[in-house]
Amino acid sequence: MGFTCGIIGLPNVGKSTIFNALTSAKAQSANFPFCTIEPNTGAVAVPDERLLTLAKMAASQKIIPAQITFVDVAGLIKGASQGEGLGNQFLGHIRGVDAIVHVVRCFDDENITHVEGSVDPIRDIATIETELMLSDLETLRKATDKIQKLAKSGDKEARTSLEIISELEEILDKGGNLREAVSSRMTEEPLYARIGGSLICSKPLLYVANVSEEEMTSGVEGKYVGILKKQAEQQNVPLVVISGQLEAEVAELPLSERQDYIKELGLGASGLDRLANAGYRLLDLVTFFTIGPKEAHAWTARRGSKAPQCAGKIHTDFERGFIRAEVISCEDYISAGSELKAREAGRLRVEGKEYEVQDGDIVHFRFNV
Ligand code: GDP
Repeated sequence: MGFTCGIIGLPNVGKSTIFNALTSAKAQSANFPFCTIEPNTGAVAVPDERLLTLAKMAASQKIIPAQITFVDVAGLIKGASQGEGLGNQFLGHIRGVDAIVHVVRCFDDENITHVEGSVDPIRDIATIETELMLSDLETLRKATDKIQKLAKSGDKEARTSLEIISELEEILDKGGNLREAVSSRMTEEPLYARIGGSLICSKPLLYVANVSEEEMTSGVEGKYVGILKKQAEQQNVPLVVISGQLEAEVAELPLSERQDYIKELGLGASGLDRLANAGYRLLDLVTFFTIGPKEAHAWTARRGSKAPQCAGKIHTDFERGFIRAEVISCEDYISAGSELKAREAGRLRVEGKEYEVQDGDIVHFRFNV
């Protein structure tokens, strides 16, 4: 369980390179605009030291980390919403993801063709955003066609939907911030959440600046990253700086050597670590654990999820027959040394249906069906 990120960006910005490095998968990567023909999907374990420690303490036979699924979505160029390049089929793949990772080229390399002939982060972002906006406008037009008749016949929900659609169209037409508009209105009006939430431009977004290996290891911020950082701040979009090339090198190494190599280069954490962190913050996710001799398992939930909802992630029966949750915090478990000792020290809490599961909770769900 985890979340799905769609990787988008112009051709030749390094999407497949980053996707391959992160997932160590084999998506084709070449100096060729449309090499990613089928959207590639790869699941990655979320790095979490706590899970490893807990598994060791409980002598768990199996470790099951939380996952991030990456989808490498290619084919977005100017005119994609009109079917240019690989066109609309690719926009369709973005609709299913939880968050969008927009890779922006921030490296110079005359051997790697840029579709627009030069590196320019702001222009590149605008090109992609325009296509996404046009695609959303098309979605809204289709939705209007579908419900217009119903609205004319006096159906209240259809009428409200049309009002919401026209509001959203106006925001898109004016190039406004749909993401903020939808998130601020969705709790008060469920229809707003349903219609607005289906649009690509309302999805949580983060930028990845793909920089050269030299820039990444020098620690000196290049001019393109500087420009992109300003833009990201203005838009309130998080930015993660990654070097696709360097991540690709790291991915070639055996797992046991990767961390040392990253440290040797003077980098605090791998691209995956930083991206996973940014993704968790962006989507406001928490990790909880179920720990036992059979398996140590990390699960992901939205912050604020109640205990029964979290139980339902493990099995629908757990949610249906939820009785209580027995919770020990990760810190208490680790400092006590074992589950038994944490219990003896009175660190186990019994929580009910209204309990909001916290990041780091170790939970036993009690249920009866
Ligand atoms: P995509 O079309 O966005 O998926 O781009 P690819 O990942 O296929 O990369 C296009 C080309 O750029 C490939 O030849 C990569 O090796 C190269 N590339 C990717 N990242 C970097 C980078 O950080 N620096 C340089 N110089 N080349 C890169």
